[in-house]
Amino acid sequence: RQQHNIGFLKLFVVSVLSCVTLHVSDPDVPSSLKTLSLEGHFSFHDTSDAAKDFGNRFRFLSSAVLHPKSVADISAAVKHVFRMGLSSKLTVAARGHGHSLQGQAQAPGGIVIQMESLREPETRVHVGDSPYLDASGGELWIDVLLESLKHGLAPKSWTDYLHLTVGGTLSNAGISGQVFRHGPQISNVHQLQVVTGEGEIVNCSAEENADLFYGVLGGLGQFGIITSARIALEPAPKMVKWIRVLYSDFTSFTEDQEMLISAEKTFDYIEGFVMINRTGLLNNWRSSFNPQDPVQASQFNSDGRILFCLEMTKNFNPDESDVMNQEVGTLLSKLRYIPSTLFRSEVSYLEFLDRVHVSEVKLRSQGLWEVPHPWLNLFIPRTRIHDFAKEVFGKILPDSSNGPILLYPLNKSKWDNRTSAVIPDEEVFYLVAFLSSAPPSSDHASLELALKQNDKILDFCEKAGIQVKQYLPHYTTKEEWKAHFGASWEIFARRKAIYDPLAILTPGQRIFQKAV
Ligand code: FAD
Repeated sequence: RQQHNIGFLKLFVVSVLSCVTLHVSDPDVPSSLKTLSLEGHFSFHDTSDAAKDFGNRFRFLSSAVLHPKSVADISAAVKHVFRMGLSSKLTVAARGHGHSLQGQAQAPGGIVIQMESLREPETRVHVGDSPYLDASGGELWIDVLLESLKHGLAPKSWTDYLHLTVGGTLSNAGISGQVFRHGPQISNVHQLQVVTGEGEIVNCSAEENADLFYGVLGGLGQFGIITSARIALEPAPKMVKWIRVLYSDFTSFTEDQEMLISAEKTFDYIEGFVMINRTGLLNNWRSSFNPQDPVQASQFNSDGRILFCLEMTKNFNPDESDVMNQEVGTLLSKLRYIPSTLFRSEVSYLEFLDRVHVSEVKLRSQGLWEVPHPWLNLFIPRTRIHDFAKEVFGKILPDSSNGPILLYPLNKSKWDNRTSAVIPDEEVFYLVAFLSSAPPSSDHASLELALKQNDKILDFCEKAGIQVKQYLPHYTTKEEWKAHFGASWEIFARRKAIYDPLAILTPGQRIFQKAV
């Protein structure tokens, strides 16, 4: 087995740099799975689409792809694999919209479940004093939003990009500029339905099967497949005031962000970006922001300086626009941005929330969406953000970056420490997200450069003793995973032994390995 593991590791290393497609299939798989009676179906021939992800660097072919129509289909498939026991190498991965970065939704030689095929439960909104919505784990957030808006409602906490599935983001955390108010998406779920690693269909919530409920939230797909989620809703505003201001001073930028996230009366959404040596600033931002004063905005010249952009929104309905403008004016008067850099826009709530999709459409049309994405997402404790910025923006990335860099604060008190999500041990910590693209025209040069920069950043954090935690974590050894989870590793491993004792689920995270 050791030899098998070393061989696997070698293949894995090769795939990291060259994105080769790897086959580890078992010829008996189709005949054994064909015996299952399903509402949906398996496909055995073209499994290559299920082996693709947004990261575009890892591609492990599965032996079969399940297109489930019902939760019973998912349960039957997992139960079947569970009953085969350790005599079979088969594993199972739920695949949401495949926006993972390093093959996390892939199952080498195993079964990938295309969660978007799952058609139950139908998305249903429940109005009332505490409105909520039930959605399938394979539903895209954009569709959840469109359905809830029909009732004048919307989920409270978002990701920047909505073409991700409910099960996919709840397996991580789901974060954006609303987290400081509502917590991540995993703090806004009342109940889940889950298929465990034994194929059992279990309902769970804070009151019922609470250990499984909290384990699955942020659980990287390790304890069960989320087949449905009950998501908290709030009244949806019709419009948002969307504002961007620029800073050249990092201290003012971070102090203003921290002040805003702790103030009682504040914006509804707050994020920051780092802009390194950018010209045509506005075109380079990753969204559809069109300021009311585009000429002034396009004339602003960064002169090669690193600039920091603070982005905020205030929700409003058309009849509240005067009050909203007053509140915004008061808040802006407390900030220390470069005075000539106040850019404003007003858009519908839907347009704001779906803003990154506009860039996706543009990038796709230029063949720049399906390229390698060596992203690195880090949570940095507030007390070390200056050390981090000095080294990373001053030395490691002094004059280039291959994509947007997000930098904004979050507060621990809005996260539930019973979930599996891992965050730093400080009340305020920053998300710093290096969202690099490596277009193929650069002959691997930009991919290698970005990967090297990521390594340098991680090395620096380690040497400087910065207690960084990766978001959307990627590790290849158990030791690294143990260090990632720290004190919560024991709970994580215990939950695995209870809910997925044969380690069938989500092998692409490379945390546990099925002991065949
Ligand atoms: P997949 O990539 O298909 O799956 C992710 C993991 O979850 C895999 O391990 C998979 O096996 C598992 N999984 C999938 N479905 C289920 C299920 N139903 N039950 C159990 N496990 C499951 N994240 C943020 O928090 N905030 C952002 O603003 C944000 N923006 C993004 C923008 C882009 C353009 C991209 C590509 C990613 C972004 N992400 C963001 C990251 C994103 O939330 C995660 O990559 C998420 O996992 C992707 O969802 P998916 O449906 O594509 O999941």
